[in-house]
Amino acid sequence: MRRKLVVGNWKMNGSGAANAALLSDLLEAHAQWRCEVAVCAPFPYLAQVSELLAGSPLAWGAQDCSANEPGAYTGEVAAAMLSEFGCRYAIVGHSERRALHGEGDQLVADKAKAALAHRLTPIVCVGETLAQREAGETASVVKRQLSAVIHTLAHCISEVVVAYEPVWAIGTGRTASPEQAQAVHALLRAQLQAATEKAGAMQILYGGSVKGDNAAALFAQADIDGGLIGGASLKAADFAAICRAAS
Ligand code: PEP
Repeated sequence: MRRKLVVGNWKMNGSGAANAALLSDLLEAHAQWRCEVAVCAPFPYLAQVSELLAGSPLAWGAQDCSANEPGAYTGEVAAAMLSEFGCRYAIVGHSERRALHGEGDQLVADKAKAALAHRLTPIVCVGETLAQREAGETASVVKRQLSAVIHTLAHCISEVVVAYEPVWAIGTGRTASPEQAQAVHALLRAQLQAATEKAGAMQILYGGSVKGDNAAALFAQADIDGGLIGGASLKAADFAAICRAAS
């Protein structure tokens, strides 16, 4: 039986005061949740998040990591550095990084490999654009994106979390229907099954305008094991409602 996982992706949002208030509200609410929960904060706030969540069941992670080991890579943050002070997750291949920073499939796979090498769990994002969906390319796009990670990680693929995030649903208020999302999750699971006998135990999250009022229907699908939540993770009441739906 897979446990549901809900991960907040704060993107480039937050402030010391706002983070403290949000986390304090989440810590008050979490007793009602039966799912795994994590928040992925911008790098400068990770120390604060780590301190405020210490001793709680809430995990925390980064929104990216370098594919490289420490060295002459100005502006990058190594997985080893994140791991050193207790980071649990690193999102890799978010569509905003693919689109705005030109990150390709192999770089994303190399980041996942670096994360695993330092005991972080990579949350590997895949997803098609609206144009690709309308051209009937959804399956080939997400399979190509996941295939690079499978080939790079080989048997370690079972240690990643996969997030299906249709680009057209991210931050747009337009969510994939539970059936649309399940169809893609099922084909990702089948692809993982061909690579590892542990695919049935792997968590595949859905992300894209998940809210308190659509989360339960999405999470009820056979292959949807929780959510990667952007906008709604910034408001404690909204994020708490999603965590309840996953519980
Ligand atoms: C995301 O940024 O990963 C995301 C899913 O955003 P939103 O929930 O705002 O669509």
